[in-house]
Amino acid sequence: MKDDCIFCMIASGKIPSATIYEDSHFRVFLDINPVTKGHCLIVPKEHFDNIYELDAETAAKVFSLATMLSRTLKKALKCDGMNIVQNNGTVAGQTVFHFHMHLIPRYDNDGVTILEEQAPGNMEEIEELRKLIKAEL
Ligand code: AMP
Ligand code: ZN
Repeated sequence: MKDDCIFCMIASGKIPSATIYEDSHFRVFLDINPVTKGHCLIVPKEHFDNIYELDAETAAKVFSLATMLSRTLKKALKCDGMNIVQNNGTVAGQTVFHFHMHLIPRYDNDGVTILEEQAPGNMEEIEELRKLIKAEL
């Protein structure tokens, strides 16, 4: 538990939240600024600032929970799609520095845009990047 971390306080139950799921490792609750109806956050009870700090076991559990809850949200809300979003760093839109994963149910014609500003890349640059990244593996 990190002092002054709002998600540590929510995850431990010290601050109330609209919880839809809880187990010994996670709390999942509705976002107070929902992008769409049913926007939820999967939050580990242990504090990790971001994805770089996450251990493999927690990471696996997060995604396993995301699959289960995506099916649940689809059934409960009759959504037409689902975006999984996970921000790391201010530049990427992270505002709460306790790792979390967004589940954003999508509805036909909801008008939300996520990752829609893509354009064809330069293939030489893509090849350079492929080599650069692979060299670190
Ligand atoms: P991010 O921008 O990825 O760091 O996401 C942080 C999310 O936490 C935002 O979508 C906020 O709306 C949400 N949030 C912040 N405080 C609370 C809170 N007390 N209860 C529920 N959601 C919150
Ligand atoms: Zn925290």
